[in-house]
Amino acid sequence: MDNLLDFNREQLTKYIEQFGHKPYRAKQLLRWIYFYNEDNFGAMTDVAKAFQNTLKEKANIKIPEINFDELSLDGTRKWLLNVGASNGIETVFIPEEDRGTLCISSQVGCALECTFCSTGRQGFNRNLTSGEIISQLWLANKLLRKQKNYAHLSLQKRIISNVVFMGMGEPLTNYNNVVHSLEMMLDDQVYGLSRRKVTLSTSGLIPAMDKLRIDCPVALAVSLHAPNNTLRDEIVPINKKYPIEELMSACARYIEYAPRDFVTFEYVMLKGVNDSKDQAKELINLVKDVPCKFNLIPFNSFSNSGYECSDRNTMIRFKEVLVDKGIITTIRKTRGDDIDAACGQLAGQVQDKTKRSKKISFVSNI
Ligand code: SAH
Ligand code: SF4
Repeated sequence: MDNLLDFNREQLTKYIEQFGHKPYRAKQLLRWIYFYNEDNFGAMTDVAKAFQNTLKEKANIKIPEINFDELSLDGTRKWLLNVGASNGIETVFIPEEDRGTLCISSQVGCALECTFCSTGRQGFNRNLTSGEIISQLWLANKLLRKQKNYAHLSLQKRIISNVVFMGMGEPLTNYNNVVHSLEMMLDDQVYGLSRRKVTLSTSGLIPAMDKLRIDCPVALAVSLHAPNNTLRDEIVPINKKYPIEELMSACARYIEYAPRDFVTFEYVMLKGVNDSKDQAKELINLVKDVPCKFNLIPFNSFSNSGYECSDRNTMIRFKEVLVDKGIITTIRKTRGDDIDAACGQLAGQVQDKTKRSKKISFVSNI
């Protein structure tokens, strides 16, 4: 079966051409799939019966099963999706007054082993396909439209206005599938999202950042987490391959092409590790040539992490040092606390539940 969610507009057009159908049929299909959120070919009323039957025979719109669907008191909604072989990925919707942000995953696990990240701790299993990445938007959109507070909205009114690649995985190590899914998110006939409102978060894979700025520039967030190589080598090990000064130059190059004129630096606040005033001052010097904003992320704890979150006052002091030098800095609000929907938390729970099978599937990949 061919999963239509894997096809962008061009590919879908070619795909249906082999059955003798004209390009406008692809447009029709895209509208059914992404605008009406329809996954049943039989319900696509203006698609000819014979073509419906061909599609039923050859293709599907493959959506992962939902293992978990929970709504937080603050409106955050979290899904754990089953992508086969006991592998779960997380998708989180975060509503705010002026936007609705969907946080999506790009891989099952992650190979990069940042020491404070529960996804990194569970190791890498596999890349998601572009269809699996897009299906997270499809599913969230479908289910949110049924949620009580959104059910009255017309289909024209977007519920998901922003997408961030901040769930499980390092998107730039799954480059082709991620870029393919980005192109679909931006396509007017698919999700039509603005480049400025799709943010890719990376731990700093420089060659892939340089490629992305040409292939498909979207808003960029870089997980910095340390002001120098000594500390970053330790907590974000990919830094040993792509050192911090080179990362700064890559960020500056990215901005030349980016839809936004700044990079967002993410900085997880780890008590006694990276949260001193001196480290904040060191950061200012480090980023002096990169137009940027800082997003300080309170560390979300998980079992045996070995880290604690910085105290509130320490975070505020750290922020003030940056703000005093004119750097726009926010402390990320922790959302969905009651349902463990904060960065990386759900992934940690999945690992506990499925450790055995995960270990087995990981070993069998080697
Ligand atoms: N791999 C990419 C994107 C996914 S992680 C990256 O590293 O950028 C999204 C963000 O969550 C990153 O900034 C990551 O460092 C942060 N993060 C990971 N574990 C966390 C934790 N336990 N608490 C708070 N933030 C965490
Ligand atoms: Fe991977 Fe990002 Fe976690 Fe690092 S922080 S291990 S890159 S998901």
